[in-house]
Amino acid sequence: MYTHKSDAARNESDPGVTSTVVGVQDESDRRLQLVKRSRDLMSSRFRRFLSSIRWSDLEQEMRGLSNYRLSCCVNTLLQTLSATWEVSDLLEKWEAAGVRADSHNVPLQLKRVLAAMRSDHLPQHVPHRDFLHCLDRNCVRLSVQHDADEVFLSILNFVQQQMDDRALALEIQNLYKISVETHLQCLECDSVQTRTSYLLSLHLHLKEDHNSLAGCISSFLEDQELRGIDRCFCAKCGIKTPSKQGVKLLSLPRILCVHLKRFRNSRGYTRKLDCQVTFPETFDFSEIAREGFATDFAQNECKYTLYAVVVHSGSAMCGHYTAYVRHRGNQGWYYADDSFIRQASWEDVQRTNGKYNSTTAYMLMYRRGAKEEGQQPELSG
Ligand SMILES: [Zn+2]
Repeated sequence: MYTHKSDAARNESDPGVTSTVVGVQDESDRRLQLVKRSRDLMSSRFRRFLSSIRWSDLEQEMRGLSNYRLSCCVNTLLQTLSATWEVSDLLEKWEAAGVRADSHNVPLQLKRVLAAMRSDHLPQHVPHRDFLHCLDRNCVRLSVQHDADEVFLSILNFVQQQMDDRALALEIQNLYKISVETHLQCLECDSVQTRTSYLLSLHLHLKEDHNSLAGCISSFLEDQELRGIDRCFCAKCGIKTPSKQGVKLLSLPRILCVHLKRFRNSRGYTRKLDCQVTFPETFDFSEIAREGFATDFAQNECKYTLYAVVVHSGSAMCGHYTAYVRHRGNQGWYYADDSFIRQASWEDVQRTNGKYNSTTAYMLMYRRGAKEEGQQPELSG
């Protein structure tokens, strides 16, 4: 600043200026005062502008993650996991006392990065490279384009395999657990084999044209005939026979993860379906698929509210992942594209339904409960 002042004074006293030296100095001082006053005014206006846009809301729970060696897929999943506060709450309880720091333990690194993302004492960009390197050591390689649904399920698997507190690990799994009863009926002898299992995500088949989430879920729960090469072995008939296969829901989870199967393989070639899939902000499972409930399904609350969307742009060969996530405190939507974060609207989220372009919703995360029930008090950090 002092250098600028002497430069300005020197310029004003250039040879050829007819005013006296004293007069020039006075004029110079007056102009400098004007510049200083306007600078002060600008900085106070700028400070008021900064305070008006409530950075605290944005920074407390929404932190950008820089793209490090093609990490948009993992960055996006970290944003959705951060919005799934139930996971970070459970990881917070885990002491990890028996885990060696250098053991490439995915849940331990996940706990650290999620804690960093919700802390308000760090710069805007959180260090997440340790998590990415840890995944790399667990065969989710850096510098490779990944499928978000596969990486998401891998992370949940690592949590189960690598947490030394089994009870907490199961609590995390139970958040996503969809218990189902599958049945297989032989169409020759009518005998039925049933077994219970669980899914961590609803994998929904898409039609090539228009789809709705409700329609996809109904199709998922419809019985399917297996004939020709799809015939199954029937123990009673002793041979492979045509059969009818179906699935009934035994219980629905707190967090319902929906995978829209937009990538289709045929003859060794993968292509992306950019077809339209409309999805609601809230829906009641019992209204769209009550016939899909098993007889001993006993849950009363089946209402779900959308809180995160994993978005894929581009083609099957070359794409980019971003996320829309709902803020825990104000329930507003935010858009996360690696290190870039901005506020968004429900209309922005809906535009990823595939009607407009190839920037399409790929995974939908719903939380059980109405929108207002999802509200939680802000963390104090
Ligand atoms: Zn049979």
